[in-house]
Amino acid sequence: MKYYKWKDKIQNKISIGKIICLARTYKKHAEEMSSNLPKRPIVFLKPRSSIIFSGDYIIYPYQSNCLHHEVELGVIIGKNGKYISEKLSWNHIAGYCIGLDITARDLQEQAKKQGLPWTISKSFDTFAPISHVIEKNQIRNPHNVNLELSVNGEIRQKESTSEMIWKIPELISFISSIMMLERGDMILTGTPRGVNEIFRGDVIDATMDSYCSLHVEVK
Ligand code: MG
Repeated sequence: MKYYKWKDKIQNKISIGKIICLARTYKKHAEEMSSNLPKRPIVFLKPRSSIIFSGDYIIYPYQSNCLHHEVELGVIIGKNGKYISEKLSWNHIAGYCIGLDITARDLQEQAKKQGLPWTISKSFDTFAPISHVIEKNQIRNPHNVNLELSVNGEIRQKESTSEMIWKIPELISFISSIMMLERGDMILTGTPRGVNEIFRGDVIDATMDSYCSLHVEVK
């Protein structure tokens, strides 16, 4: 398998950019959160300071008492673009990774109730662990890969990306109609069902078929 480490890219070629996240892109996850399915994609941002890599630690912040795991397909942008058409969107992709959208669920629920942004609940340092990046051409169909996440060896999330409500070109086209997608940006495409709580000392493993894997611990 030919791949490069995102870390190497940061140092050598691409500086890592913004992280654009999607919410409720899998029907069964929307159901488990008792949320309505949106008519348009729901977008929020995470800072790049939240990124860590396989082997690193998720640091449990003192401001929260409930962290959840969310396993997601990451799409890495290789070329700048604004108003990217669905047809041309593939030209803007550099590769894919598996990533976690770690969420302080208690803080998110508070924000939802008060009609406030989710930013704090999503943005703590270490809240975006990602694997190395698989080059685009190595994955024949990113809409048919299996995302799997286990905690302490027990499988919690397991779903094919074929269950996503929107396809990657639709997401790229939609996001780029709002903000320029720049080389080095990453789209976290939303999580399937099975999100659950994680605790200090938990060991999290995630895989995208045999393409890439991620191993992190909660500290
Ligand atoms: Mg998410």
